[in-house]
Amino acid sequence: MRYADAVAGIPWETIEAVRRRLQEKPALHFIKGEFLPSESGETFPSLDPASNEVLGHAARGGEREVDRAARAAHEAFATWSRTKAKERKRYLLKVAELIEKHADELAVMECLDAGQVLRIVRAQVARAAENFAFYAEYAEHAMEDRTYPVDRDWLYYALRVPVGPVGIITPWNAPLMLSTWRIAPALAFGDTVVLKPAEWSPFTASKLAEIFQEADLPPGVFNLVQGFGEEAGAALVAHPLVPLITLTGETETGKVVMQNAARHLKRLSLELGGKSPALVFADADLERALDAVVFQIYSFNGERCTASSRLLVEEGIFEEFVAKVAERARAIRVGHPLDPETEVGPLIHPEHLERVLGYVRVGLEEGARLLVGGRRATRSFRGEDLSQGNYLEPTLFVGENHMRIAQEEIFGPVLLAIPFKDKEDALRKANDTKYGLAAYVFTKDLERAHRLALELEAGMVYLNSHNVRHLPTPFGGVKASGDRREGGFYALEFYTDLKSVALPLRPPHIPRFGK
Ligand code: NAD
Repeated sequence: MRYADAVAGIPWETIEAVRRRLQEKPALHFIKGEFLPSESGETFPSLDPASNEVLGHAARGGEREVDRAARAAHEAFATWSRTKAKERKRYLLKVAELIEKHADELAVMECLDAGQVLRIVRAQVARAAENFAFYAEYAEHAMEDRTYPVDRDWLYYALRVPVGPVGIITPWNAPLMLSTWRIAPALAFGDTVVLKPAEWSPFTASKLAEIFQEADLPPGVFNLVQGFGEEAGAALVAHPLVPLITLTGETETGKVVMQNAARHLKRLSLELGGKSPALVFADADLERALDAVVFQIYSFNGERCTASSRLLVEEGIFEEFVAKVAERARAIRVGHPLDPETEVGPLIHPEHLERVLGYVRVGLEEGARLLVGGRRATRSFRGEDLSQGNYLEPTLFVGENHMRIAQEEIFGPVLLAIPFKDKEDALRKANDTKYGLAAYVFTKDLERAHRLALELEAGMVYLNSHNVRHLPTPFGGVKASGDRREGGFYALEFYTDLKSVALPLRPPHIPRFGK
């Protein structure tokens, strides 16, 4: 397919070059500064979600590769954790600069591999660079903590120290943004890294490793092991030289990882699934609420952890508002992710498409009213054939909160609209879920907005807005959506140990035993 000579400013030659590179060069592990195949020589294919043809291959890592990477990270930790903060900052800023330099290649690669539309992916690549630039600043100041003078007799102080190698396990929906968001604070605070990206979108992680190499990061500070969750991921969670594990993924994976990590008493950060509600009250600016709720579920192909997949609307405006959502959903441009006009691209994998279609069937069986979509999309908005890819029509149901399609994370462009009577009813329905990642409230009544922000069981609440991430603020969920907060200084709590030091300013009385 050729949409234009330059796709959103990216020359066609770059796109062809990325395709060729993926075909010709498998994505390897990166251990102690070297790109390596698996000892077994085994690789696995990654599919182009737009065609389901093989895009390229990645090395299939397991216990051996994880062991080598963990040892390399452990060894490098001895030096990196003592490297001056100013110097770590310099490396991080260099990486940020190099991500910007390679932005087009990274964006095209992520777009082809994850099926995310180019306009979204470009913003994510910029965010990946920002993650490094942001934490570069922290590198110099983050280790400051409190002092506790006690009268004139004692001085206690608290110190932050790096912990060791961090195992970073990431999902397939936004590989580059989600991995850099963890790698950057880990490196800034003096830890070293072993990254295990998701098997359905492995490629940008290997490109990122090239960037670390170009930045001359000392060998072993950043390591990458490609492979499957049950093999490379599980080996990383079990490795005794990796004391910290951060996992972004499904809630069920979180449970398995928590059990496995418990055997080694590891510190865990879990960023898991969501079923976030958007509450729309009759007094809201309905045009803006419409923009936000449509964007929050259908952008990112619906594969967004903070998607507002439950739309709770006040009864008086329910039919009218939902009719407008339906009109928008029908008009969304489904197409190839490289097409600059595309709004929704293909789902990551045929298995995932089947899973999402399975939920459409469940919704119909449960008696939900299907207003829009629910089928594979076979023609793009330009009329091209999409039948070989994992495309789904943006889908809208009307139903009730007890239904499975309201309670389970679908992770696709499927929205369920549910009416509510008043604030209490809205709150009850919003909180009636095992998840608690984000919540969105649309109302002009500020008292109600703030009261709801307090009462909603969610790690993040957005008032009259879609999800706009501000890096210093805490990110994370409650209930089955996770247990930690990352972002800004909150990341410090995860990536460092807090140590208390006591110094008497005059000799304290010491009881004399055995005298
Ligand atoms: P997943 O849980 O299937 O996989 C996530 C990662 O875990 C992958 O790298 C996988 O290989 C690995 N893994 C699987 N089993 C493992 C095991 N036993 N031990 C160690 N690692 C293992 O998730 P996914 O399908 O890749 O991603 C979608 C999910 O991620 C959704 O539930 C979504 O909500 C969630 N997500 C959450 C956030 C957040 O910040 N809360 C952000 C993005 C995505």
